[in-house]
Amino acid sequence: MKSQDSNICYANSAVQILFHCKQFRQKVLNFQPKQSTKDYLTRDLQDLFQQMTQSSKSKGNINSKKFMQRIKKLNQLFDNDDHHDSHEFLIWLLNHISEELQADINRENKQKNQETNNKIQQSSPNPYVFVQDLFEGKLVSKISCNLCECANERDEPFMALSVDIEKGSSLNHCIKQFAHKEWMLNRDKFYCEQQCYTKQVATKQMMIKQKPKILIIHLKRFKIDPQTLRYQKLSHRIPFPNELRIESALDESEDSSQSLLYHLKGIVIHVGQGFSYGHYFSLIKSQGRWIKMDDTNVSVVDEKYMRALYGLPSSNEQSGWPTAYMLLYDSQPDE
Ligand SMILES: [Zn+2]
Repeated sequence: MKSQDSNICYANSAVQILFHCKQFRQKVLNFQPKQSTKDYLTRDLQDLFQQMTQSSKSKGNINSKKFMQRIKKLNQLFDNDDHHDSHEFLIWLLNHISEELQADINRENKQKNQETNNKIQQSSPNPYVFVQDLFEGKLVSKISCNLCECANERDEPFMALSVDIEKGSSLNHCIKQFAHKEWMLNRDKFYCEQQCYTKQVATKQMMIKQKPKILIIHLKRFKIDPQTLRYQKLSHRIPFPNELRIESALDESEDSSQSLLYHLKGIVIHVGQGFSYGHYFSLIKSQGRWIKMDDTNVSVVDEKYMRALYGLPSSNEQSGWPTAYMLLYDSQPDE
């Protein structure tokens, strides 16, 4: 994608993997706003997707200027020429579109109520929109009191699963570790309000309660170095499969009979050493081949190239080696 703005590779790479996700692309292309006068970010994304659809046929240039201008207007964080976190951008984009679509439906319902003089204002829950239907999963956070064994559970929706990465492990291991139990001790003791009414030692655990149709995994490669208090990048090797079945970290209420098989469709890659600088590009799977999308450059790469993005086998954390940063797994097979 081409734009007057510099340093927008964080946005380009995220938009590319979303565009190549067929279910999402079709929903965006078919989007019809309920109000013609309102400004919609979804509409700008639709324009961009239309351009990209044309461009994939004619190899023309794409102008993302209008889309980026809207982003900058809506979110101060991105209103500059700095580098940004592609994951942060992607999550913000999905959440913003969700809220926009919900507000659109709510506004229409309110109008209908007024027209029919319906005085009874029902406080209905927010409508469920396609972004949630495709990307949203559910986590359950469980805190168990060690003394009375009572459990406190809270559901949390997620648009991407952020996993810690460990040296010498794999994506499957990282997902398993996601649900490891943490002790709440000493100053972190938990106030048990069910039976004990005092602070107690407890365990804390996060589990997957509902898997999304499209699973975005964020590898937490940026960590604060406790000594320098600066972000450092973890470049170590985390192999990830082309086909993923999540069998660990699942809550017992998750319907495991519906064991989704996820297919790797897109990867956002970070090159460079730091959190606030470097470069992003993406790899997308199209008709069985890996296509590298690096701003305006498009090329076919092989499986070996893709596997090099797992990371570095050595422990050289300071390297600027290109490493996979976000993975998009779709439960729908290849296009
Ligand atoms: Zn208790």
